[in-house]
Amino acid sequence: MSRARPDLIVGRLAPSPTGALHLGNARTFLLAWLSIRARGGRVILRIEDLDGPRIKFDAAGRAIDDLRWLGLDWDEGPIVQTKRLALYEAAFERLRERGLVYPCACSRKDVETAASAPHPGEEGPRYPGTCRGRFADAAAARAVSGREPSWRFRVAPGEVTFVDGFHGRVAIDVSELAGDFVVRKGTGTAAYQLAVVVDDSDNGITEVFRGDDLVSSTPRQLLLYRALDFEPPSFVHVPLIVGEDGLRLAKRHGDTTVHRFREAGVRPERIAGLLAEWSGLAPLGAERMPRDLVAEFDLARVPRSRVICPPESSLEKTFGLPPMG
Ligand code: GLU
Repeated sequence: MSRARPDLIVGRLAPSPTGALHLGNARTFLLAWLSIRARGGRVILRIEDLDGPRIKFDAAGRAIDDLRWLGLDWDEGPIVQTKRLALYEAAFERLRERGLVYPCACSRKDVETAASAPHPGEEGPRYPGTCRGRFADAAAARAVSGREPSWRFRVAPGEVTFVDGFHGRVAIDVSELAGDFVVRKGTGTAAYQLAVVVDDSDNGITEVFRGDDLVSSTPRQLLLYRALDFEPPSFVHVPLIVGEDGLRLAKRHGDTTVHRFREAGVRPERIAGLLAEWSGLAPLGAERMPRDLVAEFDLARVPRSRVICPPESSLEKTFGLPPMG
């Protein structure tokens, strides 16, 4: 039997610099990193900064700094999406030449929501196909809306299936869930779904490991892999860390950023230890750096359900900090 070739395993950490790295993102990155490092693979850091107004000044630099401080490292990168626009444009042109996309004059707000990485509650309604077959070219769409059109990928009805490394078989009919989806925004920039496929393919990623809020995006991405003749990677989606209300960690849950605890003097091995504890990889109160977890990493130990991040005041106690008030 042929042995696994560790040199061929490539994963990525792909933060969006839309805010500070919180314990939830950090935990997903820790697991993604462990999954690759446990098999001796390569890790690439990619900054996903295409989301225009949502990108915060200097958030990328801070995320990089927090990841390093936590003991996560990478072999290549940061690869920055806004420096790779020509690559996305070339892929878009291929889709256009193949007649797989069409211009859309629908409102900018609808399109912008649809063009970002969708997170729970943000998926928006299914696109009803208003502009499918409506315009002969971009100029005709422009004449109606008075601005540059976005471009949507035509989705045929039928299930797209894949085997998720954590959840098993997933089957989603993209035409029912999302409908024709945006691949290029009216600003001329690639939408998340296209950029991520072009990057994962171009960077030679063999395993996409991310939060399960993006499970529903994977079938869209698989359609693009097929349309562009790219070889798809394998996919692993792990449950998110949520607040006590069951929703994705956000500001209303208090300050759960890595930075906040780091500033207060909490050591990285304590934070990584807590993330490992949440992941079934270390006992209560453990101190672990990511490298200490590599040898024993086992995805099967990661809880099947979403893990609740305690409120800030409990985290202060966990880390032995005086309350901030
Ligand atoms: N940058 C995306 C996010 O932070 C992740 C995209 C991906 O892993 O495909 O939501």
